[in-house]
Parts: sequence; C-alpha cells; structure tokens
Amino acid sequence: MCFHHGPQVFIAGSGPIGATFAAELHRINPKLKILMTDIGGLDTAVPGSHKKNSIDFQKDIDRFVHIIQSQLTTIPTPERKLIPQHLFVFSTKANSSSKWFVRNNQNPEQLPEFNLGAEAVTRCVGGMSTHWTCACPELDPDLERPRLDEDDTKNNAEWVRLYTRAKKLIGVGENQFSHSIRHQLVLDTLIKEFPAVGNAPARKFKALPLACDRDTVDPRFVTWHDLGVSLKVDEEEVVRAGDFFELYPNTRCTRVWQLPGKGEIDFVECTRLRLGKVDTNVQVKAKVYIIAAGAVGTPQILANSFFAKEQEMPALGKYITEQTMAFCQIMLYRDLIADVREHPKEDWKKRVEDHIRDFPLDPIAMPFDEPEPQVTSPISKEHPWHTQIHRDAFSYGKVGATIDSRVVVDLRFFGRNEPVETNTLTFSDKHRDGYDMPQPTFHFQMTPQSRKESGMMMADANHVWQVATKLGGYLPGSEPQFLEPGLALHLAVSTHSKSAKPPHPPGNVKNYSVVDEFSQVYDFSNLFLGGNGIIPTAFAANPTLTSMCYAIRASTVIAEKAK
Ligand SMILES: Cc1cc2nc3c(=O)[nH]c(=O)nc-3n(C[C@H](O)[C@H](O)[C@H](O)COP(=O)(O)OP(=O)(O)OC[C@H]3O[C@@H](n4cnc5c(N)ncnc54)[C@H](O)[C@@H]3O)c2cc1C
Repeated sequence: MCFHHGPQVFIAGSGPIGATFAAELHRINPKLKILMTDIGGLDTAVPGSHKKNSIDFQKDIDRFVHIIQSQLTTIPTPERKLIPQHLFVFSTKANSSSKWFVRNNQNPEQLPEFNLGAEAVTRCVGGMSTHWTCACPELDPDLERPRLDEDDTKNNAEWVRLYTRAKKLIGVGENQFSHSIRHQLVLDTLIKEFPAVGNAPARKFKALPLACDRDTVDPRFVTWHDLGVSLKVDEEEVVRAGDFFELYPNTRCTRVWQLPGKGEIDFVECTRLRLGKVDTNVQVKAKVYIIAAGAVGTPQILANSFFAKEQEMPALGKYITEQTMAFCQIMLYRDLIADVREHPKEDWKKRVEDHIRDFPLDPIAMPFDEPEPQVTSPISKEHPWHTQIHRDAFSYGKVGATIDSRVVVDLRFFGRNEPVETNTLTFSDKHRDGYDMPQPTFHFQMTPQSRKESGMMMADANHVWQVATKLGGYLPGSEPQFLEPGLALHLAVSTHSKSAKPPHPPGNVKNYSVVDEFSQVYDFSNLFLGGNGIIPTAFAANPTLTSMCYAIRASTVIAEKAK
C-alpha cells in the first residue's frame, strides 16, 4: 500500500479517535487497508504512546506539567496591539495596511471578549492522548448523554454496548488506586463529611474511572493508556502494521475533494511537510474518508475544502461548547496525616511501619511513592457539574517545589455550557495559521443558564472546602478560582451529530447538525467525522470515552461501505 493506490479507508488524525476508528475497523474486517496521516511528528519511540509512562514522571508528576505546556498550541491569539514603535527606526514593523503582525497564531479577526483564550491543539502522532489524564467517566443518561434512538430501551442498550466496547478498547478500571493510603484518606473523609441529611441523599464520591493499569510486578507504577500499538517505523518515518495499516506523520490533510454533483468524495489532498524530496503534494484515493483531526482540526479541514461553504454545511462550527472550570488545591489536614502514623488501617500497617523505620525523620508516615488520590463526584441534579479530587499534572496548578506532594490534593470542577447557535468557531479566508490552514476564530459567550450553573459551581467549590475542612486548607495562591476559558480542553459540538430525539431548532436538519447519528456527513456517501465535535449535548464530564463510542458506532457502517 502507498499513497497512490491501495487504501480502502483514509483517516486524518492519529489521536485517540482516529486510532479508535483504525482499531475497530481492523477488528471488524482485518483485511481492510487503512491509511492514516497526522500533521504532527513522531515524538515517542512507540508511536502515539503516553509520555507520562516515562519513569521520570512516574517519580515526580509535577515535572509532567512542562511536557503538557509544551504540547499545547493555543488557538487563536488575538493580535498584539503593542506595536514596537519605539524600536530602532530600521527594525521591522507591520505596515499601515495590515496594521498588526499575524504570524505565531495572531489572528486580527479574534475579538478578545469572545475568545476561548486557553483553547489549544496538540500536533503529534497520538494527539492529546500522549499527555491526557485518562479520566473516562460515562456521560449521565439524564443530564448529559445524547440520544442515539428515540426508543428509551434501545437507546440505553446501544449506549451500554458502546461504552462496554470503548472501555475494553482503552482499558478503563476503577480500582487502580484503591489500595493507596492517600486515596483512601481523601475518599473516606469526603464520604464521611457529606452524609444524607433529611430527604437529601448523601453526596456521591467514588473512584474516578481511569484508563490505566497498575504494574503487577512493581505496583508503585502505573501504565497510562493510549491507543498507540507496537508498530514498525521504517526509514522514511512511515509507521506500518502488517500490510493493512500505514501512518504518515508530518503529513497534513489539507482538504477533501468531491466528485461534482455526485455526493461523494473523490480524493483527499495531503501534503508531506518534511520529506520534501518526493510526493510533497499527494492525492489519496480511498473508498471511505474519515476526518478525526480534533474538535478544531476537523472543521478546519472541511472549511478548507471548497464545498464546505455556508450553504452546504450551515451548521459547521456552530453551537460550540466548552466547559467552565473552577480549581483549587488544598494541603491535607494535619490530623489526617497524624492518624496515618498513630492509627494505621490494617492494610496500611506494614507500609507505614516500614517507612517509619527507614525514614525516622520524615514527618509523614507513608511511602514517598504512595499513589495519589483519584476521586470523583459525578454530575447530579443537585450539583450539575463534574468534580475531580485528585493530584495530577495539568498545564496549571504546579505545586511549589518546597511542598511535599503527598499532602497536596487538587479539586477540579467542570461546568456545562449549553449549545447555542451564536457560539461559533469560524475559519478565516484571509488569514492562515502556522500550518497554512485557515485561521480559527471563536465567538463564544456563556449563556445565562451556564453562568448561573458556574456561579453555583464556584459556591460549591467553597462549600466543599468549608464542609470538608477536615480534608485540608487551601494552598496559598490556589484558592478556588475560575480558570481561563478553554482550559478544560473539552471543546465540543463543532461538527455535531443529529440527536435522535427533539427538541431541535425548527427547519432543515442540516441547519443544526453536520453529521447523522452514525457520524456520516449529510449528502456525502463516503465522508465520516470523529472527535468531541460530534457530541451534540451540553456535558460536564470528560468526553473522550463518549467520542470513542461514536467512532465505534460509525465503524460498523464504514466497514460495510469500505469492503
Ligand atoms: C492536559 C490534558 C488532559 C486531558 N485529560 C482528559 C481526560 O482525563 N479525559 C478525557 O476524556 N479527555 C482528556 N483530555 C482531552 C483528550 O485528550 C481529547 O478529548 C482527545 O485527545 C480527543 O481525541 P481526538 O483524536 O478527537 O483529537 P486529538 O487528540 O486532538 O488528535 C487529533 C490529531 O489530529 C491531528 N491533526 C490536526 N489537524 C490535522 C490535519 N489537517 N491533517 C492531519 N492531521 C491533523 C493532530 O496532530 C492530532 O494528532 C485531556 C487533554 C489534555 C491536553
């Protein structure tokens, strides 16, 4: 197989969703030939593998903050108003017609007040799953989950089937941290501090479902999951598996071309960005085309394809959602830490005693590498947001180097935003991004309902702390705070699917959705999309598992068409 002949399926994007399509299609029909391209390079020895599995980060999670920061390219950035007029007279400056510089993602069309300032993309083989936190909750059936069937029973059965398959594929469990002293301290304290009162039920706290495995030989370590598999990389940096799969890194999917008037994609135009000597621009012909280039990259490729003008895909980039985030960090209450030493639980005893014996000067009586807490409080009617109480690396919330990370806990609150038509992601026909694709522009404002829920969420962040003063006190500088819009990195609905049950806005289905319930683009028999952009509903939980479900569902249809 090569660019010019052979593949039955073309996939743009090697993130977890592109990889889900490849894995699922191969499972259904091992003979299918699949060609994938990714605009980013191959920066791990095993293509697409999670970078946090390196021993350096297993030993010190805070060092991973820098890796995440380096992997995130924020998009777009409002232009710099600061024009260096005061520089030497012979220094370069923007001229009066263009007014401002536009390189380095600066976008003159982006108004700061409508921006999702922290929204970012990751360009490398494996996409964001090379650094993600691996939290894999299901969306709540009543409060978040989209409808795949009008009939309740069929809808529920389909979601059970899809979630079961997705969890198996990425390997999700809930007990990888249950033996940990730190985990038990946090979970037990929260359950005790939030009991049922009167008619109000107890607040639900449980282990966060995570895509990882604890190492059976050395249980101090975990393997964080990705969808990278053992693939061979040849001398031209092409990743191969048998004769059925090829992945071309550093290869931009530029646009798809249709057969005029036929409702069918004819070929996809790709550009190899690094190996300039051969085939810099290539046309790839396949039977089915899947665009899974992330919630920004996917509509960007469509917007760059000549058919995707307003009249053909009116809903493209409309109704976008992004979660509101509140965050704080606490240091565990000293009585809790003292209790570990004085009254260790039966299954902690040996670890605690060994540690005291080996490190008599350590004020904390638990092993240095005791795993972190991984707790969640799922969305509920009373608390319509998703909460994670854990200790993990993000691009923010870096603990001061002097603080013992065994006593620090992060509280993250993720709020829903409803999809409304006026929240949009558009692509410029004048400005290009650093990869020569149309520059994205956000027009995003929280709705009154989202504002209300965010306010309640912040009050809850304070309340959780007040009620749970038995858990700890704020880390100075990490008191409850809203984070910059976009920082959740859960941008969604940009290429959304039709939901099986109204209420829908009035009019043509194409006005409020881009793909049907099987992720197939309307009016195109062989074009499918994947990623968080497909989810059509407001949600607070982490979306990747649900986006995998959509890819799994679509794969059945695609495998049939690609035969
Ligand atoms: C710090 C962090 C923590 C996270 N934690 C969680 C979590 O706990 N749970 C969760 O559910 N989600 C989490 N996420 C989000 C999660 O990683 C994303 O939801 C997921 O990766 C989306 O998968 P995707 O394949 O659709 O997109 P991506 O992972 O973004 O992959 C898209 C791929 O497409 C490629 N691409 C883009 N444009 C083109 C083009 N024109 N041509 C070819 N290729 C292109 C990119 O290089 C990239 O490799 C986290 C993300 C980060 C960064």
